[in-house]
Amino acid sequence: MPIYLDHNATAPLRPQVLESMLPWLQGRWGNASSAHGPGREALKAVEQARAQVAGLLNCRPEEIVFTGGGTEANNLALRGACLARRKQGDHVIVSAVEHHSVLRCAEDLAGQGFQLTRLPVDEDGLVRPESLESALTGRTILVSIMHANNEIGTIQPLQRLGEALRKRSILFHTDAVQSAGKVPVDVRRLGADLLSLSAHKIHGPQGVGALFVRQGVSLRPILHGGGQESGLRPGTYNLAGIVGLGTAALLAGRGLAVEAAYLEAQRDRLEQGIRELEPRAVFLGAAAPRLPNTSSVCFPGRDNQALAANLDLRGIAVSTGAACGSGDRGPSHVLKALGLDPALARSVIRFSLGGSTSMEEISETLATLKAVLAESGR
Ligand code: PLP
Repeated sequence: MPIYLDHNATAPLRPQVLESMLPWLQGRWGNASSAHGPGREALKAVEQARAQVAGLLNCRPEEIVFTGGGTEANNLALRGACLARRKQGDHVIVSAVEHHSVLRCAEDLAGQGFQLTRLPVDEDGLVRPESLESALTGRTILVSIMHANNEIGTIQPLQRLGEALRKRSILFHTDAVQSAGKVPVDVRRLGADLLSLSAHKIHGPQGVGALFVRQGVSLRPILHGGGQESGLRPGTYNLAGIVGLGTAALLAGRGLAVEAAYLEAQRDRLEQGIRELEPRAVFLGAAAPRLPNTSSVCFPGRDNQALAANLDLRGIAVSTGAACGSGDRGPSHVLKALGLDPALARSVIRFSLGGSTSMEEISETLATLKAVLAESGR
């Protein structure tokens, strides 16, 4: 088995999550919208999962809308809010380091007549509150700033950023796909009106996610069909997927504090080891609050594609950035937004750890990295 250090791309299904899903794939079924017994059984399972997800986010179950993943949740939040608020304004603000599912959706809205501002970030990837405040106009209807960045792991000061929005009743969306299950994500404390998450980043199944929609916030659906999810997300429920998401959310919430401390200790060991191998290594975002599992490292003078490929050949799975950008050439929009020197940006390797990452795996990764660095020279 390879040593898997790419949990920000996707995290393996937890055995208990699989166990909870299996009955709904074999033996038990039902369309949760049907009025008969099997339908009611299915609906009960969906509602239990809704309560479990709400528990992780500290919201009401009625405030959870199930989606087909984080990408869809982000699209529903942005497009749904803009279309619902069109009469009130036409200005949307996103940060320059958002995931493509936010950025490209916002760009598409700009093509349809909305005004778009991309907020710059500092060298740690953080949005400065003053820069948000100065971007607001009387026409601003929505601000979308991610909770934690998928490439470098830095955590935005959402509470502080949201202050300026509450005064003006501007909707605040946050993409918490990477932070949920790794750090506390409490929608009330964060002050979010809309928040996205994805099951497969918290050891749940791929292709299912959720959007928190604060009670009283209205969105226009982006899909049209039946009346599921109060008409906001039509389509027959992905029953087993939703059950899996619920279980994953429950387990993530229960183990959060212990797992975060463990991950941070493992990540710090990895970084210490890398510093010993390559004293010139630069750890992106390390001065800012960061996800406990993520380490984005520049290896000056090295080519990250070659490093990642050589590590992969030796059974260590890491990445050079976001999995969905792995076909792109050159530095990602995130690294560009940090103002990172392009040569340095081409040397970045992202290590993202999981709860099952062991001490032995960290030691083996360091030993392999040492060999790869020695072989490849400069
Ligand atoms: N947002 C962030 C920050 C992500 O990292 C990802 C996936 O990598 C997504 C959104 C998209 O989620 P999904 O893969 O469930 O569509």
